[in-house]
Amino acid sequence: MDTEIHVSPIPAFRDNYIWAIHNRHQAALVDPGDAAPVRAFLERNGLTPCAILNTHHHHDHIGGNAELVAQYGIDVYGPADEDIPSMNRPVREGDTVTLDALGIRLQVIDVPGHTAGHIAWHAPEQHLLFSGDTLFGCGCGRLFEGSAEQMYHSLEKLARLPGATRVFCAHEYTLSNIAFALTVEPDNAALQARARADREHVARHQPTLPSTLDAELATNPFLRCHLPQLRRHAEFSSGRMVDSATEVFSILRSLKNEFR
Ligand SMILES: [Zn+2]
Repeated sequence: MDTEIHVSPIPAFRDNYIWAIHNRHQAALVDPGDAAPVRAFLERNGLTPCAILNTHHHHDHIGGNAELVAQYGIDVYGPADEDIPSMNRPVREGDTVTLDALGIRLQVIDVPGHTAGHIAWHAPEQHLLFSGDTLFGCGCGRLFEGSAEQMYHSLEKLARLPGATRVFCAHEYTLSNIAFALTVEPDNAALQARARADREHVARHQPTLPSTLDAELATNPFLRCHLPQLRRHAEFSSGRMVDSATEVFSILRSLKNEFR
């Protein structure tokens, strides 16, 4: 049996990625917001789907569930605290899902903030993280259902995973996130290098993802709120004293909402 695991992007809508975790025969689908591109990908590559893994309830992440379940009869794993159509395998933090078809084990991490029940999927042996709309390339998701405190705590949990972990998020937002990050840390050499590399990826119509947690820790302002230069930026922008990393995070998140 071919046990080598690959992760392939299936572009959907304007800037979503549905991630296929697959070997030569079977595929698990992360956040299939649309069934049509998934079906085309499976047929093109001769793959049989074995499961759906959802991160949260937004339509662009779950919109293809019902059609794929009807066609293939696969299980849908997702956050127990969210209302997700076709979900028959609700999971919570600390749960581990083993997909025998792929020989892969995925751990569930609660990461509320973007939505109240948002989860991330972590495959510790393969060093893969599917972060949905929580951690983006050089950014983070908007706060729709949670507080800044919750989101910052969620990002801190992800930041503690091994640095070599590859980060697969659900949107191609990296260049716009980098443009914002450069307003916060114009002198960050790692960020400048990332900007050059990712602009080149986009110019060649290649995904900027996955990144790694090490790269995010070096460049993503939302994972760097504990650093003095980030605090100074937050104080300068807000015109007040700031004394916690969470407050820095909250100010940066508001600035990003208004950015462009
Ligand atoms: Zn979302």
